[in-house]
Amino acid sequence: MILIDYERCDSCGECVRGCPAKVLEFLESSVVVANPQDCLVCCYCVEVCPKEAIKVEGC
Ligand code: SF4
Ligand code: SF4
Repeated sequence: MILIDYERCDSCGECVRGCPAKVLEFLESSVVVANPQDCLVCCYCVEVCPKEAIKVEGC
């Protein structure tokens, strides 16, 4: 389960650029969880997010 808190997210794109499995994508100007089934639970997105806006179950 991957959750993005849109109250916190400022669409900086760090998580989208760094996700090794291309799970996250921009849809217009919002980050969306496009391919959740591909998540490696590497926790990169959780660690890189400057706003603590993304949560991944297991990270
Ligand atoms: S935990 Fe890793 S693989 Fe999963 S969405 Fe985040 S960066 Fe991508
Ligand atoms: S790194 Fe965090 S603030 Fe930046 S786009 Fe991703 S979820 Fe939003």
